[in-house]
Amino acid sequence: MIDLDGNATNSGSNPVVNNSLDNSGNNALDCPNINPSINPSINPSINPDITYDLVLRQGRAIGVAEFAGQLVDVGIAGGKIVAIAPQLANAGAMEIPVEGQIISPPFVESHIHLDSALTSGEPRWNESGTLFEGIEIWGERKQSLTLEDIKDRAIAALKLQASQGVLFVRSHADVSEPQLLALQGLLEVQAAVKDWITLQLVAFPQDGIYSKPANRELIEEALRLGADVVGGIPHYELTRENGVQSVQRIFALAEQYDKLIDIHCDEIDDDQSRFLEVMVAQAIRTGMGSRVSASHTTAFGSYNNAYAFKLMGFLQRTNINFIANPLINITLQGRTDTYPKRRGVTRVKELWQQGQNVSLGNDCIQDPWYNFGTGSMLDVALMAVHVCQMTGRKEVEACYDMITVNGAKTLSIADYGLGVGKPANLIVLDAIDRFTAIQKRSVAKYVISQGKLISQTTPAQAHFQLS
Ligand SMILES: [Zn+2]
Repeated sequence: MIDLDGNATNSGSNPVVNNSLDNSGNNALDCPNINPSINPSINPSINPDITYDLVLRQGRAIGVAEFAGQLVDVGIAGGKIVAIAPQLANAGAMEIPVEGQIISPPFVESHIHLDSALTSGEPRWNESGTLFEGIEIWGERKQSLTLEDIKDRAIAALKLQASQGVLFVRSHADVSEPQLLALQGLLEVQAAVKDWITLQLVAFPQDGIYSKPANRELIEEALRLGADVVGGIPHYELTRENGVQSVQRIFALAEQYDKLIDIHCDEIDDDQSRFLEVMVAQAIRTGMGSRVSASHTTAFGSYNNAYAFKLMGFLQRTNINFIANPLINITLQGRTDTYPKRRGVTRVKELWQQGQNVSLGNDCIQDPWYNFGTGSMLDVALMAVHVCQMTGRKEVEACYDMITVNGAKTLSIADYGLGVGKPANLIVLDAIDRFTAIQKRSVAKYVISQGKLISQTTPAQAHFQLS
């Protein structure tokens, strides 16, 4: 499907990706070069004196209020956006005609597990389709983990995502095994890819912090080794009390080590799983809300309304971030229901309506929990549109924001977005606005990271043979 060698031959209906990231050996970690296949095509009215490294001509810039509804040129030099205007007079060393399509800030992957990515069927398939069989299978698969295995799969998954416009990723790393191989492998990947993708790592105790005595020390060691975020899984701790204790411990560790927090919280259909309230209470008391993310919170979709409305009120007293993973939630949840069968997703629409920051993640790419997934954020947004019933025009646009600007807020990314002086991280999509990007599941025609073109995709074309 994806040709990472840059030899563009489209045998099927899939788009062609020309990716300047080498997919073999150590070169895969080099900073990519600009693909020379784009030739400048300069309008005669443009001064041929080269001022910019790269100019994107006549696109619709997403999130630039000053030029809303207008076509603009974007000038890039020294890795930064240096000019945005209806017409830039000077030329760029490279010119990309955008032709009225959108220039967007890159996609943000708020929640993924790169350590388990691309392992589906190993050592066996998840036949029940449940979260808990997935955890068992991963427990078996991780017995054979090696650093190389983790790094190769993680880099392959990041390239899949980067070719589709993702330039910021938060990945969980399982820190429940004694050698911390997943974390060590992903820390090496984080350093290796930093010139083209920003990777944030969560110390995630998949088996619980209090399920084994060693796990308490392992999560702390992971923070000392350099994990950016403290994770947790209170609903999978052995008792309710251990779950509460784990949330309190996570907040204490985050304060002690100056880290962000991202907890797998209430990822179950049990309407009595109520660790979100513990997170909210800790966030209100500590004032750490903006540094805290609650991932999944699928039980929120099963709470009775009297309780849910009370909790929504408490949420207004803090500003924690929510991360929903609609592809996975709709797949894993509701498995013990007969009919009616729950959707198993958190209250995305209501949280958005209340002004809470909600972002979306893939969670899985072909792993023990989910055999599908290509890393596309537009697939995630499309599923959110369906499963959260956010089909109104403004609601669809909100789902686009959940894979871009809201994700940037969740990850605390500084200098995100399109603006003069900001790092030149941007994508050109085969779409005229946010709505059509999701409607068409547009390809990322050009992906520019830190001022360099790292990937180019030609939209698929069908050739009919009808007489
Ligand atoms: Zn997860």
